[in-house]
Amino acid sequence: MLNIVLFGPPGAGKGTQSVHLVESYGLIHLSTGDIFRANIKGNTELGQMAQSYMDKGQLVPDDVTIRMLESEVNKHPEAKGFIFDGFPRTTAQAEALDVFLDARSTPVTCMLALEVEEAELKARLLARAETSGRPDDSNPTVIQKRIDVYNAETAPVAGHYALQGKFTGIDGIGTIEEILDRLKVAIAH
Ligand code: AMP
Repeated sequence: MLNIVLFGPPGAGKGTQSVHLVESYGLIHLSTGDIFRANIKGNTELGQMAQSYMDKGQLVPDDVTIRMLESEVNKHPEAKGFIFDGFPRTTAQAEALDVFLDARSTPVTCMLALEVEEAELKARLLARAETSGRPDDSNPTVIQKRIDVYNAETAPVAGHYALQGKFTGIDGIGTIEEILDRLKVAIAH
């Protein structure tokens, strides 16, 4: 099993790189943001609840998010591995993921953290808003809130994996191909 936590702030390129990593390694891509957005589109109870947080740039509560992620993993018993994109976003989520994957004897292989400076993130998110249709990309106040939440609540998750010797920082500036090559080098190590 190859279980990759693809990490980084909003706009770092996690979704873009996930598509390429799926192609290269045949992994299942689980993006908690995508799953929440699909639930909003489908007007489910989960979607309605998640939307109230997402619209403000806040995190959806851990218990709901963890339960949802675990049920998504359980849908793929034949998977060769997973790319976790946008999860874990809190230390509590990281700890829950460890317990859950350890019970399946398929622990996280590595955390690959895409590193991009804040001014570039903001520019990318505003540019993405033109095509993504995501309300949380088009509002500078919400973008700032997402970055602040990342710095306060999510960035510490890197330390969780560093302690396990699983953390690798990846320069997230460059062409899609250049960044993909850096990720592949890190995966091969
Ligand atoms: P993303 O698509 O990863 O940028 O996520 C969009 C929004 O979905 C975030 O701003 C959060 O409101 C919510 N979200 C996605 N993943 C998580 C998570 N692991 N924990 C809590 N909230 C999340």
